[in-house]
Amino acid sequence: MISEEEARGQILETVRPLAARSVPLLEALNCFAAHDYPARLPLPNFDNSAMDGYAVIASDCRPGARLRITGEQPAGLDRQLRVSSGAAVRIFTGAPIPEGADAVVMQEEVTRDGDEIVVNAAVYPHQYIRERGCDLAPGQKILGAGERIRATTLALLTSQGLETVAVGGEVRAGIVSTGDELAKPGEKLQPGQIYDSNSTLLQSLLRGFAGVFASVQDCADNRDALRRALTAAAKNQIVIVSGGVSVGEHDLVHSTMRSLGARIDVWRVAIKPGKPFLFGRLGDCFIFGLPGNPVSAFVTFLQFVRPAILKMSGAAKLELPQSPAKLIVDLTNDGERAHYLRGKLERGNFAPIGRQESHAIFGLSQSDALLRLAAGESLKAGSIVEVQTWD
Ligand code: AMP
Ligand code: MG
Repeated sequence: MISEEEARGQILETVRPLAARSVPLLEALNCFAAHDYPARLPLPNFDNSAMDGYAVIASDCRPGARLRITGEQPAGLDRQLRVSSGAAVRIFTGAPIPEGADAVVMQEEVTRDGDEIVVNAAVYPHQYIRERGCDLAPGQKILGAGERIRATTLALLTSQGLETVAVGGEVRAGIVSTGDELAKPGEKLQPGQIYDSNSTLLQSLLRGFAGVFASVQDCADNRDALRRALTAAAKNQIVIVSGGVSVGEHDLVHSTMRSLGARIDVWRVAIKPGKPFLFGRLGDCFIFGLPGNPVSAFVTFLQFVRPAILKMSGAAKLELPQSPAKLIVDLTNDGERAHYLRGKLERGNFAPIGRQESHAIFGLSQSDALLRLAAGESLKAGSIVEVQTWD
């Protein structure tokens, strides 16, 4: 049995980022940037009005001053107008500031009188002018290598005139769900059977990553079937096997992988739930063997498979989101393995929820945070802990 840190270290040393690709912006949502992006255009790109109003010279505008309207400047084209002393140009939000003007007065702050306005408020130089480059200077970094591309990132890239963006490579994943006891949803359960929930769990978790595409096979607990399933699934870049990785007579994944010539880098980790976790390599394909118990499959997916997929996809940050929380019960881990407790994070308070056993999928479904309790660790109610979240 090796430590969790060693196991994660081995996995992350082994997997490599896949070759980057260029995709249309809208396909890049939640992908990771393949390199840094500097700004090509300043933002704003020209001095423009923040209000509907009048472009003026601030020093002309004592309250009560009368100004002559000499033109109109809408957004969308530059009429190359000029404002000279005693004059004002009607202007609209987003329109270029005419030469000579150094302020905009809001239309609410003037009284219109035919071709003139009367200014009713104090006017300061630069007011309501969005100056070229005040938000973003050319060359400034707008997106870093490995950063996740969000809706707002895509808006920023669009504001720069980009149509495509270079992101980390796609990951094809094969899921192999093993177990003689497994039935598919819609089938009638025979005595002793259970429904295969792990296939659904793993496919759903994989859908949370952009650029990861999953296929599923089920497989009985027999060596030939498993050989065929693993050989076929290993055409993907990664395979996630559920079940059959433990040490019982019906747990055939480890020995079958060996008989296929696979390298096994990790087998059995000091983590609860999830001890039988396995990681190895068959040809160019990385194989993750998750224990069949649903909570074990979930926890080992988050701790070992998730960071590996993120690294392959070009992500810089591989850790789960963490937040501080106040523990509301005493907790002790008398065991020799780090224990991941499933719990609920509510208004900054964390409490374990449901049965803390590896088959207990109802409790898991109610949880939204994990607390890692190290081997031998005791925590008192009221202490501040860091919990991991995933949604
Ligand atoms: P195993 O890891 O194959 O020894 O399975 C451990 C436990 O997980 C057993 O109770 C299995 O019935 C259960 N199990 C295995 N595969 C699945 C699955 N795909 N969905 C739900 N439970 C499973
Ligand atoms: Mg099994």
